This record gives sequence, structure tokens and C-alpha cells, in this order.
Amino acid sequence: KSQTGKTRLTMTAYTSFDEIQQIHTELRKTFNSRVTVPLEWRQHQILQLARMLKENHERFAEAILKDLNKPAFEVYLCEINPVMERAVLTAQQLSEWAKVENREEHIKKEHQKSWKPRVYREPKGVGLVIAPWNYPLILSLQPLLGAIAAGCCCVIKPSEVAAHYAGILAELVPKYLDQSAFRVVLGAVSETTKLLELKWDHIFYTGNSTVARIISAAAAKHLTPVTLELGGKSPVIIDPNFNSPNTCGVDSLSGLALAAKRVFFGKTNNAGQICVAPDYVLLPTKGNAKAKEELEEGFKQAFRSSFPSDQPGPLSDSSPSYSKIINSNHFSRLSSLLSQSRGRIVCGGKSDEKTCRIEPTVLFDVEEDDSLMQGENFGPVLPVLEVGTVEDAVEFVRSERRVGHPLVLYVFSDDDEFKKKVRENTTSGNIIFNDTFIQLDVNEIPFGGVGESGQGRQVLRYTYEEFSYQRSSVEIPKEIEPIFASRYPPYTRASFDL
Ligand code: NAD
Repeated sequence: KSQTGKTRLTMTAYTSFDEIQQIHTELRKTFNSRVTVPLEWRQHQILQLARMLKENHERFAEAILKDLNKPAFEVYLCEINPVMERAVLTAQQLSEWAKVENREEHIKKEHQKSWKPRVYREPKGVGLVIAPWNYPLILSLQPLLGAIAAGCCCVIKPSEVAAHYAGILAELVPKYLDQSAFRVVLGAVSETTKLLELKWDHIFYTGNSTVARIISAAAAKHLTPVTLELGGKSPVIIDPNFNSPNTCGVDSLSGLALAAKRVFFGKTNNAGQICVAPDYVLLPTKGNAKAKEELEEGFKQAFRSSFPSDQPGPLSDSSPSYSKIINSNHFSRLSSLLSQSRGRIVCGGKSDEKTCRIEPTVLFDVEEDDSLMQGENFGPVLPVLEVGTVEDAVEFVRSERRVGHPLVLYVFSDDDEFKKKVRENTTSGNIIFNDTFIQLDVNEIPFGGVGESGQGRQVLRYTYEEFSYQRSSVEIPKEIEPIFASRYPPYTRASFDL
């Protein structure tokens, strides 16, 4: 039982309140000793984190399979490999990021040129990472990488919902990382609430926007800065003319079928339980009714080719390519949304309560007030809505009725004017053209939301920056005292000449 009396999913004990307090005190002491500051120490810890994954990848993949039934291929592709790659890149690039910035050449006022203007990147102190269940590994370890790189100490609180992963993390972190600086706290709401009573120097939270408000309110009591990586309804706008010319390199695939295939992929990975999953599709069909038919056929094709009839289907526990829904609560939520929807199912639609699985399901002829258009769907259901023009699509996305600015806006078009119109007239964390999900593989661009979809950025240097602060410095030469003569009281007319 947890401290609130709820039954836990595994035998791994939750961290007691006393221990949480003790960990906080220990980490503060470690940070104050400045042992985490030398770059070599940080690089060593970062490489230890990569080593932890290299030596235990099978155990991590197995744990995530138990939690989510996530195919091993997806765990390596989207979690283990990117974290290992980014750990190595962080260790390699850290000395560049941490360089003291010399601002001398930017100084405009002549008499300040000798003042040694510098900007130091300093660690904020002791950080707290609160992670969700859907990509339990990358969403706990990527923020941790940033904290280590910045020279911070850090507590990681993995999601209790992905309990097998959390247990292994708690077992392995002490074996690979310096325990006096990095600790895992296990627990659910009451343990997180206890953590949030304490003063942290940065909180990095990934999860839903309701809990984000609790995190922000708790952080505000201590004026602690926060990174919030949240979700939202990420739209897809498909240009009906994406078909011509067909340049995708596969003769049998029209442009709209390619768009359907790429959107479908973003919706089937982890059974749509991804913050960047396409949430709904807008098809501006005015003057091009044929596009709707072609897109519909594209989704059907994508379903058939992803789940061929000679392999275990998406409802089977032995499916090699498809995850289950994390738990019965989410299964019921999604089933109820689907049953209330007035959309026309064009592929998928079946579910199995026993295996907690729902087929990837695409629905056409969905209206704006449909059950699937209320909150973030966060599952394998994709409503497609028709609108008149691209202007109507833009208006739809930025309408007050939507749940805030999306995390990602996906646009499929070859037309620069179409793309520009959407980009210039909307707000979203990222805007991605002609594919879904794959943007997460690009190491050199920041990832994050805006407004309701979050604040702050991550990936490599951007995560490092979240846990660092810029400490500016100047050193005023003694010998320039004569030019300061008039700044001291008593003020005279000459003071105005300074
Ligand atoms: P979750 O239920 O695992 O919760 C996230 C964390 O918050 C957990 O560690 C949990 O213990 C803690 N928590 C839950 N309730 C709490 C409370 N009342 N007080 C304090 N802490 C609490 O995960 P979730 O929120 O269901 O995650 C899914 C959401 O996360 C979706 O909305 C998704 O879009 C979003 N998400 C965003 C990103 C991103 O990078 N932007 C990535 C993944 C998921």
C-alpha cells in the first residue's frame, strides 16, 4: 500500500516521507560541496548513464513491455537508442556549451571595454524531474541528462503507472550514478505532493496540463522555475493538392496516400499514447471532393499494410508491432469516446477489454462538436474533419474553442503559399511539414510547447540550458576612478555629464 492506502502495481516499496526529506537534505549538501561542478565529473556521470542503458537494455525493454506491451523495436527506436546517443553527444559537446561567454566585442560604450564582460553558465542547484508513463525511459532520463550536464544534483520521480520501469530505474541508478547527487524517488500522488512541499532549484515536469497546474502552484510558493512538457490536441492540415506532382519515390503511393500513411504511423506508435501524436485531421476539401476519397483509401491501405492478416492483429497480446492501452481507466475513457462519436469508421474500430487494446481507428465525417474533438484523445483514434479552405483550417486551429495552442502542428503540402499561410497565422510549439513524429529524431532543434502545451525546451543543449542559469559578470578596473568622479553625491550639474 502507498501512504494514501492505494494498492501499488509492484512489490517495489514507495519511498517514505522521511526518506524523501533525507534525500533532499543530502542532495543539497552535495550540491553545496560543489563536487558536481567540474566538467570531467559531469561527463563521467553522463557516460555512466549511457553505460547503465548499454549493459541493461534488455531489462529496460522487458520492463516497458510489461508496463505498456510496447514492442521492443519501439522501445529501442524511441527511448533507449536516443538517450544513449544523446548521452554521448552531451559528454562530447558539454565543454562547448559550458564555455564562458566573453562579451567584450559586443560592448558599445568605449569606457566599458576594459570591464571583462562575461556570462557564466552555472548550475541552478538541486533539480526535480517528474516523469509520465507513456515514454517512461526517455522522459525521465533526457531531463536527467540536462541536469547532470548543467552540474545540478537531481531527484527523478518516475511515473507509478509504469511501475516495472520505475522499479528497475530505482535499482540501477545507485549502481551507476553517484548516489550523493542523483536519486530515484518512487511513489504516486502523495509522494509527489511531499516532494513538491520541498524547495527545489528547478522542476522539470512532463505530463498532463491539470497536474501541471498543481506543479506550478507548488513551485510558485518557492519561486522555483519550471519546465512544463505537456500535451494537447495536435492538428494535421492536409492540402488536398498534396497529390500532384507525386514525387515520393514509390510509384504505387499517391501524395494523399503517403500523407495518410505518415499520419497513421504517428498514431499507431505506442497506440497513439504520445504527446506529439496527430490528434485530428483537417482536410480543406472545397473544390476537391476527390481528395477525401483518396485520403480515406490511403488510411485503409495504411491499416492493411501495417497489420497484415497473416500476423497477430493489433488486438492480440502477441502483436509484434502494437502496444496496449496503459490501463483499464484509459481503455474505458477511449472506448466511451469512440462509442459516443458520430464519425464514420473507415478502418479499425474493434477493441478488446481483456487485452486492453483498441485498433488504430480512423473516422471520417466527424463534426466539430464530436466526442473526439473535446480534449486530447491520447490514444489510437483519429477523427478527420472537412473544412472549406486553408483559411478555415487556420481559423479552426486557433479558435478560442480549442484547448490552447497545440504542441505540434502538422502540415502536409507542397505549396509554399499554403505552408506560409498556416505558419504565419497560427501558434504551436513545433510546426512540422509532410510527416509526423520523426521530428523527435532531430537532435539540433528544440522540443517544447507554448501556452497550454507547455513552457521551456529540451533536447541536448536546450535541456542543459533549462537546468543552468546565466550568471553575468563585469570587473571594474580601479584605475578608471577619475571618470566616475561625478557619480557620487553630492550631485552637481557636472553629474549630468557622466
Ligand atoms: P502520469 O499519470 O504518469 O503523471 C505524470 C507524473 O505526474 C507522474 O510522475 C505522477 O506521479 C505525477 N502526478 C500525477 N498526479 C499528480 C498529482 N495530483 N500531484 C502531483 N503529481 C502528480 O502521466 P500523464 O499525465 O497521464 O501523462 C500523459 C500526458 O502527458 C498527456 O497529456 C501527454 O500529452 C503529456 N506528455 C507530454 C510530453 C511532452 O514532452 N510534451 C511527453 C509525454 C507526455
